[in-house]
Amino acid sequence: MKSLRKKSLENLFNKQPQFFESSEKYSSLYASNVFSGRTMEEYVNRDLLNEVENVIQKGTTIGRPLADQIATALKGWALSKGATHYTHWFQPLTGGTAEKHDAFFDLYNSGNPMESFDGSQLVQQEPDASSFPSGGIRNTFEARGYTAWDPTSPAFIFGKTLCIPTIFVSYTGEALDYKTPLLKSIQSLDNIATDICNYFDKNVRKVNTTLGWEQEFFLVDKGLASSRPDLIITGRTLFGHQPSKGQQLDDHYFGSIPPRVISYLQELEFEAYKLGIPLKTRHNEVAPGQFELAPVFEEANLSVDHNSLLMDLMHKIASKHDFVVLFHEKPFEGINGSGKHNNWSLSTDTGLNLLSPGKTPMSNLQFLTFFINTIAAVLSQEALLQASISSASNDHRLGSNEAPPAILSVFIGKELTKVLVDLENVSKGKLSPEEKTDLKLNVIGKIPEILLDNTDRNRTSPFAFTGNKFEFRAVGSKSNCSKSITVLNASVAQQLKKFRQEIEFMIEKKGMRKDDAIFNGLRDNLKGIKKILFEGDGYSDEWKKKAKQRGLSFNSNTPQALRALVSKKSILLFEQTQVLTEREVKARYSVDLKEYIMRIQIESRTLGDIARNHIIPTGIKYQNVLIENVKGLKEIYGDQYHEHAEVQLKLIERISGHIKEINQGILTMVNTRKKLNEIDKEHDKASAYCEQILPFLFDIRYHCDKLELVVDDNLWPLAKYRELLFCR
Ligand code: ADP
Ligand code: MG
Repeated sequence: MKSLRKKSLENLFNKQPQFFESSEKYSSLYASNVFSGRTMEEYVNRDLLNEVENVIQKGTTIGRPLADQIATALKGWALSKGATHYTHWFQPLTGGTAEKHDAFFDLYNSGNPMESFDGSQLVQQEPDASSFPSGGIRNTFEARGYTAWDPTSPAFIFGKTLCIPTIFVSYTGEALDYKTPLLKSIQSLDNIATDICNYFDKNVRKVNTTLGWEQEFFLVDKGLASSRPDLIITGRTLFGHQPSKGQQLDDHYFGSIPPRVISYLQELEFEAYKLGIPLKTRHNEVAPGQFELAPVFEEANLSVDHNSLLMDLMHKIASKHDFVVLFHEKPFEGINGSGKHNNWSLSTDTGLNLLSPGKTPMSNLQFLTFFINTIAAVLSQEALLQASISSASNDHRLGSNEAPPAILSVFIGKELTKVLVDLENVSKGKLSPEEKTDLKLNVIGKIPEILLDNTDRNRTSPFAFTGNKFEFRAVGSKSNCSKSITVLNASVAQQLKKFRQEIEFMIEKKGMRKDDAIFNGLRDNLKGIKKILFEGDGYSDEWKKKAKQRGLSFNSNTPQALRALVSKKSILLFEQTQVLTEREVKARYSVDLKEYIMRIQIESRTLGDIARNHIIPTGIKYQNVLIENVKGLKEIYGDQYHEHAEVQLKLIERISGHIKEINQGILTMVNTRKKLNEIDKEHDKASAYCEQILPFLFDIRYHCDKLELVVDDNLWPLAKYRELLFCR
């Protein structure tokens, strides 16, 4: 019987791209399934719109009458679009999205059928989603979790379901999702950043966090992927010998996109635009089979929702095109993994990007204020930022000459470094008029020109300034962007608060003028931040040594890195910025540790199973073929057979050797797992899994991959790297 692998390979060459045709302009399609902008105006009167706008701007709560009116409008719109169900859509700590659908359909008094949906159903639901990770917050007696409407992210229709973006909290009010702390961090940063902006412009009333992510992913043929239980279950290949051709020739990067992939992307984009996801860029990435999508940036909360929604959409549409999408950070050993660059900036309600220099010296000083304080914030919370991007899967990617190492540093480029050096020489206290003029003309006045030419980008830096935004590059492709953006926002909010206190002190207690105080404040903050600035090769061993001397954290695995999450300093940060309470932080720590342990446990079990029931039997089957062959040779050549069966005999022996090693490895691995499962403390258990189980995954794999090299190709059951990566 033919193996699934061989059948899939045969099918593959008959597969045609499922061309997706649409003559509609994307701009007229855009957000047609979203309840916002033009659509909302059709269904909701002006007064109501203003009221909603007010709630969104000020973050106040929505009263029942207003909620009822919006619910009625939403229902009208959703039904006109053919929706049959509604759901509170949220992002639990599993990293994915969650939904529980309810029909609009209902039966009234005397069994009258009708469609119903009111304010209470819009505002709050109790999905009884008691199986999501909560880190111990939801014990059985208080197991209820509530979802509550987030009016800052508009409702949308997906398929035939009206989706209402919500937060997810426990009965006692603790956050059980990624959105709640993100929203709080956005608010906290808005408050203090607006105060700082008011030093420069009294008209600023609100500061938004902006986010533009770049999503990397792999596409693999569905048939081939289905011959790989490891890929389906763990999201990565636990076996597989390196192909003779990988990414050495760099011939995939920015190359022409294969037809089946283009067809997929076209349908995906069509659906994404309808949902208001503003996709902008698509291209091949470095590794064969790897691609990237990036949108126009948006306000961070919306951008995060759009990323989560897109990832979900990508899976659904991929299936139609016979693809499997891999978001795992390292699906293939020896081949580049995937990241999710988070481009981050701040913008005012007056339309200014605070990380983009302006037209006047004053706006450039404002730029420097936010620029320098962001770097100071990253320095202050480097360990926590590292923790925010750490996971079992991202560990495989970081620091292996393809992604920034597990050390946080900031790249700003030569020219801006010079500006900082000039600023450091500012006099203490009041500046002379000449010095001020000189600074305004020759230092901050030059910034716009500098940035225009400043195109040298350091791809090895985990946190780089790229002209008008910072780009956090260490984020993993699978992760929910909220994790890193929440920490970044909170860190910058805390640093800005400290900065403001320093400025106020100089103004009030030392009688300084505002601009003198700001120059002094910036200069004082500059001294410390050199520690985190690094312009060299982030992949080099030299940097690791240097970073250690500078006292920067270097944690090579997730259990180590996660410790920073519950340090006194981190808890203080979360509490001061009102993003998370100590109980919530500790719960998240526990959720992350548990997830780490589970992931490795699942990989270890999957590897054991496949090695035992796919690989060892295949080795034996081929060995039997060889044995038959040797027997035949003996019949023909009698005592002389040895001379003719030399290679076969060696192969028989080698196969036995590998089988023995694989079997022994699995036995010891299972026993070790049993022992480690007795460990009570989650952190110790996670560390033990990292140190004692992971090595088995490498060792057992080594022998399996050696078998792949010698066994008859027709017998091998698992799609090979060369097939998974190159066949489309
Ligand atoms: P690359 O990093 O690949 O060279 P770009 O620099 O053109 O690409 O931009 C990458 C991402 O940066 C895009 O997703 C874009 O939306 C985002 N971006 C651009 N400006 C901002 C901003 N002010 N705030 C947040 N994200 C931004
Ligand atoms: Mg980028």
